[in-house]
Amino acid sequence: MQMRRQDAAVARRAIPEDLWKRTLGRHAFLRRVDPADAAELRRMTSLFLDRKEFTASGGLQLRDAMVVAIAAQAVLPVLRLGLDRYDGFVGIVVHPGQVVARRQHTDEDGLVHQYDEVLAGEAMEGGPIMLSWQDVGAAGRSAAQSYNVVIHEFAHVLDMADGLADGVPLLPAELPRSEWLATLQADLTRLQTRVAAGDATTLDPYGAQGAEEFFAVASEAFFVNPEAMQAEHPCLYGLFTRFYRQDPAQDTPAPRRAA
Ligand SMILES: [Zn+2]
Repeated sequence: MQMRRQDAAVARRAIPEDLWKRTLGRHAFLRRVDPADAAELRRMTSLFLDRKEFTASGGLQLRDAMVVAIAAQAVLPVLRLGLDRYDGFVGIVVHPGQVVARRQHTDEDGLVHQYDEVLAGEAMEGGPIMLSWQDVGAAGRSAAQSYNVVIHEFAHVLDMADGLADGVPLLPAELPRSEWLATLQADLTRLQTRVAAGDATTLDPYGAQGAEEFFAVASEAFFVNPEAMQAEHPCLYGLFTRFYRQDPAQDTPAPRRAA
């Protein structure tokens, strides 16, 4: 019954062949998966479109190519984990560009500081997920810099599944929390040291902020720039292959024209 309902959803949100080819054409990292996974990526992208609600903001016109690009990139991390991981939210709000958020922070003396934060995306528990189309649309080109706003925000969703944004997603039984934390912390410390020294790093220096951002930033690199991520963070790369159950560095992208 469940299967039949899924088939109906996939048929309802079927992605036209030419649109799917263009989506893969623009994102080499989506073509790394083997043929069986490629079919599953397309099927799960349809299911994602059926379950989630896209809203445009700031006068943006949402086209099919945009929602399919977002959905396919969001599905990539959960290709082997299942879409249920995203059951905690429904809404995705797409802005034309980055958004300035007014922040407020109270210091130890009780003084309130207000400041602006510029966001390319934001994930809140229970949703919605906010994304800047300017950043999402550049995903094909920015992959070489390990930058991918969709994977970043959906890594936060995976992280928050247990109610805590702490860099620890729901782990399988064979991956102990202590091992996850030890590896993550060691590599975070290494990134912090290198960023402080002014070194160029494969991972976005933003990840040095703490475990939560480090997990999101490292997940971006794992999927869109895996060879470089593996070379700089071999232990973390290995840990991620066990969590995501994918090994992106092993697969070279299929030729551009492949379906
Ligand atoms: Zn973040």
